[in-house]
Amino acid sequence: MNKFKITIGYLYGECMNIYGDTGNIIALQKRAAWRGIKVTIQNITLNDKLEPGKVDLFFFGGGQDQAQNLVAQDLKSTGKGKVIKKEIERGVPLLSICGGYQLLGEYYQPHEGPKLPGVGLFPVYTVAGDKRMIGNIVVRLSALSCPDKIGTADDFIVGFENHSGKTYLKEGAKPLGKVIKGFGNNGEDKTEGCIYKNAVGCYIHGSLLPKNPQLADWLLEKALEVKYGETVNLKPLDDTLELLAHQAAMDKFS
Ligand code: GLN
Repeated sequence: MNKFKITIGYLYGECMNIYGDTGNIIALQKRAAWRGIKVTIQNITLNDKLEPGKVDLFFFGGGQDQAQNLVAQDLKSTGKGKVIKKEIERGVPLLSICGGYQLLGEYYQPHEGPKLPGVGLFPVYTVAGDKRMIGNIVVRLSALSCPDKIGTADDFIVGFENHSGKTYLKEGAKPLGKVIKGFGNNGEDKTEGCIYKNAVGCYIHGSLLPKNPQLADWLLEKALEVKYGETVNLKPLDDTLELLAHQAAMDKFS
């Protein structure tokens, strides 16, 4: 066991966890443990208070409109949204998928009912479209948004998407990448996701991290670097199976 340990904050896991998103928590937990890093999962849900400095990496999965309504109100009423935003500003990494990503933008306007207030972390906004965007997705990480080790500009990430929300990037927002196959943010501008500091939002379910190990390790390294104040290069793992799954998706869908 090495000196490193991290706490992963699982945001609203009981209601924002669809299409295999919990698999991202398992992937982060395993990839850390295989390097001797002690991992604590802190479930953070409705009515909980969130103290700054207690979580080293946030995960926020996808969810249906009903759950999003509850969660949007909770982020605001408990102040958790403000704390998450401050934590990201100091470099804490975060991965958010679909419904979670939408609620970290400026707002989400569902098909029915009022506009849901977002946390305002990502400079994006989302409006429900009139058709669901469902299918496999392949994204080329853009050079623009490709800080150090998330991969190189010619890295691809793969998965599947299922959303009606169309997310639009505001001026200055950095997309996570360019859609090679699939819909991405809105099915119109070929962008997918958004990256701000070490926070990533995207539409890729599946779950995302098991077959995109470079992104999992990037999140873990960022968490450790912010917590311990030093550069961290995790020892490489035998990712044969992960990369076979990745390549199979690439071959089939790109
Ligand atoms: N309810 C949102 C939408 O349909 C998010 C769905 C999801 O998280 N997969 O766009």
